[in-house]
Amino acid sequence: MTTPVASSHTAGPALPPLPALLTGQTAIVTGGNSGIGAAVALALAQAGANVAINYVVGDDAANNLAAQLTGLGILAKAYKADVSSEDQVAAMFASVIADFGTVDILVANAGLQRDAAFTQMTLAQWNTVLGINLTGQFLCAREAVKEFLRRGVVPERSRAAGKIICMSSVHQVIPWAGHVNYATSKGGIHMMMESLAQELAPQRIRVNAIAPGAIRTPINTEAWSTQEAYDRLMTLVPYGRIGEPEDIGQVAAWLASDHADYVVGTTIFVDGGMTLYPGFATNG
Ligand code: NAD
Repeated sequence: MTTPVASSHTAGPALPPLPALLTGQTAIVTGGNSGIGAAVALALAQAGANVAINYVVGDDAANNLAAQLTGLGILAKAYKADVSSEDQVAAMFASVIADFGTVDILVANAGLQRDAAFTQMTLAQWNTVLGINLTGQFLCAREAVKEFLRRGVVPERSRAAGKIICMSSVHQVIPWAGHVNYATSKGGIHMMMESLAQELAPQRIRVNAIAPGAIRTPINTEAWSTQEAYDRLMTLVPYGRIGEPEDIGQVAAWLASDHADYVVGTTIFVDGGMTLYPGFATNG
């Protein structure tokens, strides 16, 4: 683990978990063995959900997290599948439904970066990022929706037939030089999420997105692991601290619950104000 850099403003002590808003529901969290996905899996389990942890590499991390969540008194199991593979996604959903009975919540979180200056960007880098970040969410959402429609609303579990949370990014609205493939994938998630939400709301399926700002995970270590990088990052974050994976986990648990039952087709930015154009704070 990298030594934390000095910061005057930190997230503070752990918050108490949300009450058991998700008891008896089953969630699939893709990319659930690392960073934001692992924190979402933990928050959903603390809220009472059974959790299927999808991952593609890192068997130990996935199995250890499953064991940790099982210790909370819910069912949890790790499922290895590449979200960009139609066959593997279909097989994973079939296994989860066989093991848990159904799926109530999908958190489509798996994602990665393959950065390059535009003229250096290879087709493989472009296709990998679009294939996992965008097509992967499409494939998982399609399987989840089939199951939601087959099963319908079970009132004692939830007011909705199913909930999908797409993990987007502030880069669905903030352009990002040197990361054209990544920003394009997140812009695509924005329109996919809203179109899906519009199509499926009449079936009582809620589709929403979370757009994280800078969160302390392995995807962006270079942005926070040295003092210089951290201080530079803070010029982009009005709230004056980096986001922690738990900041996203808590929002995801609430958004998946009936406390958010009327939230349909919305992107919730969880970014410490990064999308507030902080460069204008002293330049008006
Ligand atoms: P991370 O690298 O810790 O986690 C990414 C997860 O996705 C890992 O579990 C990885 O194994 C998984 N994954 C990658 N390719 C996969 C595939 N083909 N099939 C299945 N799983 C796959 O990074 P993170 O920061 O936790 O990222 C999670 C999501 O949050 C991503 O969609 C990312 O774009 C988004 N996000 C992160 C930040 C941030 O600052 N960390 C900001 C905005 C958005």
